[in-house]
Amino acid sequence: MPRFDAHPESRPQTRFETRAVHAGREDFARLCVHAPPLDLSTTYPVADLDAGTASFDALVAGQAQAANPIYARLHNPTVARTEAALAQLEGTQACVAFGSGMAALTAVLLERRQHGAHVLVVRPLYGTADHLLASGLCGLEAEFVEAEQIGARLRADTALIVIETPANPTLDLVDIRAVVAAAAAVPVLVDSTFATPLLQSPAELGASYVLHSATKFLGGHGDVIAGVVCCDEARAQPLRTVRAATGALLHPLAAYLLHRGLPTLALRVERAQANAQTLAERLARHPAVKRVHYPGLGTVRNAHLLSSQMRGPGCLIAFELHGGHGAAAAAMAAVRLITPAVSLGSVDTLIQHPAGLTHRVVSEADRRANGITPGLLRLSAGIEHAEDLWADLAQALDRAMAATPERAEAA
Ligand SMILES: *Cc1c(COP(=O)(O)O)cnc(C)c1O
Repeated sequence: MPRFDAHPESRPQTRFETRAVHAGREDFARLCVHAPPLDLSTTYPVADLDAGTASFDALVAGQAQAANPIYARLHNPTVARTEAALAQLEGTQACVAFGSGMAALTAVLLERRQHGAHVLVVRPLYGTADHLLASGLCGLEAEFVEAEQIGARLRADTALIVIETPANPTLDLVDIRAVVAAAAAVPVLVDSTFATPLLQSPAELGASYVLHSATKFLGGHGDVIAGVVCCDEARAQPLRTVRAATGALLHPLAAYLLHRGLPTLALRVERAQANAQTLAERLARHPAVKRVHYPGLGTVRNAHLLSSQMRGPGCLIAFELHGGHGAAAAAMAAVRLITPAVSLGSVDTLIQHPAGLTHRVVSEADRRANGITPGLLRLSAGIEHAEDLWADLAQALDRAMAATPERAEAA
């Protein structure tokens, strides 16, 4: 039985970069392998019925593993190995993996719905997360508030607080410690996708759930859709029960690819972040650009939190063009090296238009109220050479200016 056994007590204390390389691989010497075993079984033989029943009961109750995985919707050893690695990187007892970031958020909402019907949410956040919460699809009534209002808006039936920091797409920062303090006993979920576990550790600051769209930096190569929730074991168990009941699984091949991306996470993020800083500085001086949002320039809401809750400004930049929607569309059409596409956190640089794409599902009034303007573009820096990226971006911005001369002057 290919069970994963990390023996955490026997591991030496290591730093993030080292853990990223070795996490979830602790049993390789014993197994005599050098790459993770990929287990694609959907079912597992049950020769001893009583032992099988005990395993079934344990997995349905949300145990991390059992003597027999029984059925792949209940447990998969390759997925469990990736989860163990991510828990180590996020500094939590457990990690529960899902088929996407949205499936991960849905599982937390469904679980919390059993504790109350009210959820407090700080905007902006990922467009589809905003839509899922605003729609009430999971049976929770979402109330959108400023972070500073949380204490005053708590109700007896408040089951969860949802924040995203840095926020998508404006890169605003939210004070995790202050939100946790205001939340009292209500659990706080932090979507930490933009920060990655390298740059921010929300659980250390008191967050109960740390959510990542692992589709982004964790996978890192644009070929895996995945979501994870890192939390303590007591909170992980009911999430596994929801996962088994709803089937929002991460496929083992996706888990394998996700695990494969982790050893280079620190290298990728450091390089992409250095590129982002360079591009942000140059964007701020380009005549086509009205405003740059980047924590490393201090030009986002609560930029002071960069030094107190993050270990770096990250790899995402948002910037607004003088020429509005027309200029943004022209810039997206003009890039030759940078990929005009949604998503982020890949090795290649991506640029997209939040109002027209990722945040399309948010109402126009809410978009405008949260700084998602027609001229706003979001760039996810990749690991290419900074000079090549700037050359491409600068020529695209020059073309955007040429395409919208009258609006550029008006703005
Ligand atoms: C992409 C994203 C999500 C959703 O994740 P999927 O894997 O696409 O389902 C959630 N939050 C943030 C911040 C994201 O960028």
